[in-house]
Amino acid sequence: MQFKDIVGQRDVINRLTEIIDSGRVSHAQLLLGDERDGSLALAWAYMQYLCCSNRVHHAEGDLRADSCGECPECKKIAQLMHPDLHLIFPNATTDRVKSNPSCAEFQQEFRDFLLSQQGLGSLDAWYAHLGIDNKQAMIRELDAAYIVQTLGMKSYEGGWRMLLVWRPSKMNNAAANELLKTLEEPLPRTLILMVDEDTEDMLPTIISRVQIVRLKAESTDRRRENAALFAPLLVEWLRMLFKLRMKDLSAQVEKLAALGREQQKQFLGYALEVMQECFMQSAAGQRCNLGSGDEKFDAMFPNMITVNNIELINDALNEALFAVGRNAYGKIVFMELSFRISKALKKR
Ligand SMILES: [Zn+2]
Repeated sequence: MQFKDIVGQRDVINRLTEIIDSGRVSHAQLLLGDERDGSLALAWAYMQYLCCSNRVHHAEGDLRADSCGECPECKKIAQLMHPDLHLIFPNATTDRVKSNPSCAEFQQEFRDFLLSQQGLGSLDAWYAHLGIDNKQAMIRELDAAYIVQTLGMKSYEGGWRMLLVWRPSKMNNAAANELLKTLEEPLPRTLILMVDEDTEDMLPTIISRVQIVRLKAESTDRRRENAALFAPLLVEWLRMLFKLRMKDLSAQVEKLAALGREQQKQFLGYALEVMQECFMQSAAGQRCNLGSGDEKFDAMFPNMITVNNIELINDALNEALFAVGRNAYGKIVFMELSFRISKALKKR
């Protein structure tokens, strides 16, 4: 799977390849996005790029880089036959596996499913593929044991070891706690890549230990509506963070906290997209438009978002989004977020 085979998501992909190239791969990541937007395919292409021994960088076009698709590593990942790639996914008893189901039993089925759907398969399609339409599929203790066993082994090929966890929200508590242990003690050159639609059913302790990568909803209408609603507020806030004047801070936080909960979520989602665009301007010269009405600010601000702080900013915004979703107190969320972003801006 190559990035060129994925529809849209260019800003997200370009940010990811930039970060891999800079050698700052975070050991645990969560790709969040509607399954129709290709989050699973993106995770697949990401692992291929990570392992590719001959990455291709483009001088033109909308993708800054891609895997070569031809080296032995690429071919093994494309076929999902790389010995250091392990797949974790919801499963249940079937006609063939009548008791104690686990991912270890269904690796081939899941590979066939991914290959046949090219990473676009839905959860329902997977259940149909397994023939378990009406059963509760989950990720359970046996799967956690499989994870521990897998990560306890040495890498076969001496490169990255990769664990792809599809739908971690389907983990029961025992499995989630086991995964948490491995997240707390990261192993060298080991990537745990999770893919899900939202964080609602996941343990907050897991969320706080992963780097969240949010796919864009491929709807330009929504983007335009959000820009009209939030661009002035966002720009005002960013200006203030840049200077961090305490007396302005509390007034600004009051304003953000006064938005309704849904609007706070939309605002944070919009801020995430804008930061990504700013980063693509500073890293790859892709023009972005902040729309502050102040040309000087619009030209200057994107340069503040670099490979040194984009992940810090992303983490801060994602955690705020998560906290708002869990009914945290708005003023505290936005105050903490303001400090974190202000600090991150200094690290450029
Ligand atoms: Zn390659």
